[in-house]
Amino acid sequence: MKAVLVSKEEAEIARQRLFSEDALDKTRKLVKKKGFVEIPVKETFATTDFDLIEQVKPEYYIRNKTLGDILDITEEEEKFIPSGWQILGDIIILSLKKEIEHRKAEIGKGLLSLYPRCKTVLLDRGIAGRMRQPEREIIAGKGTETVHKENGCLFKLDAMRIMYSRGNLAERRRMSELGRGETLVDMFAGIGYFSIPMAVHSKPEKIFAIEINPVAFGYLKENIMLNGVGDIIEPVAGDCSIATPCGIAHRVIMGYLDAHEYLEYGIRALLPGGILHYHEAVPEVIERRPFLRLIEAANKQGRKAKILEMRRIKKYSPGVWHVVVDVVVD
Ligand code: SAM
Repeated sequence: MKAVLVSKEEAEIARQRLFSEDALDKTRKLVKKKGFVEIPVKETFATTDFDLIEQVKPEYYIRNKTLGDILDITEEEEKFIPSGWQILGDIIILSLKKEIEHRKAEIGKGLLSLYPRCKTVLLDRGIAGRMRQPEREIIAGKGTETVHKENGCLFKLDAMRIMYSRGNLAERRRMSELGRGETLVDMFAGIGYFSIPMAVHSKPEKIFAIEINPVAFGYLKENIMLNGVGDIIEPVAGDCSIATPCGIAHRVIMGYLDAHEYLEYGIRALLPGGILHYHEAVPEVIERRPFLRLIEAANKQGRKAKILEMRRIKKYSPGVWHVVVDVVVD
């Protein structure tokens, strides 16, 4: 393997010049030998400015193994192996193209060998129903309950039955900085995705966290205990259309893509001047729809809604965005 041989004193200048000429071979390390340095260069590199040598003992960087390295699959199949997955606690969750599903057991086993601290691999087939429950299958390992750590908070959940959106991370972080000293209502609270980080980081006076799904509600209660915020969060089991309190909140979060059906309750929960964080899945072509819904819902209660800001949280589907609109209601 080719390398440029320079004195130790000239090595850094030579390395920078070779870098600028894109001549470096980044798979190999610089090798220091008796006052000289071997700088690995690409086999195609040619020069009259430096001494070129054939390295006797090249030293390689350890390249992380990839799934492709460890699976015994055909070149055709290689095109379909997954390039990314989610790691929730000690559980790996991935989707597979149908062309490679027949290899799911080997792929699961391969991933567990790449991530020895993980115990199970789940194949994700999407989500269904009002409670947004995932449809999943164990393809390697066993046990689906885990504790996931994010932003200094602990979230216990059963990855077979509970969704945990990676795409909402930035919004969870944003919300974790809001609400200090306030009374909040977290509608559609799930396992406490917003309530827990807000209670841990912003110390609001009180959070009423409402959740209809008994499995998610069970984890919500556990996560309140796990994070030591039982004095702040009051878990409320039930339907937001019934369990949402009236006229008590400085801030209401409506983290649910069909929240427009519950706007009446979210607005009614707000004190005058309270802030609503309203989520919706909105097509790009009618991006003002959430504003119209919010203004109309407030007007129905004889109140005014003033739009503060709309943020795109993540792409929900082609041409459709998951957005959150912050609005103040008088
Ligand atoms: N708000 C969290 C977030 O944005 O990350 C959780 C979102 S999760 C997709 C929606 C949650 O709302 C689920 O846990 C579901 O069970 C719950 N849910 C759906 N309809 C509900 C209702 N009418 N009342 C209370 N919870 C509801």
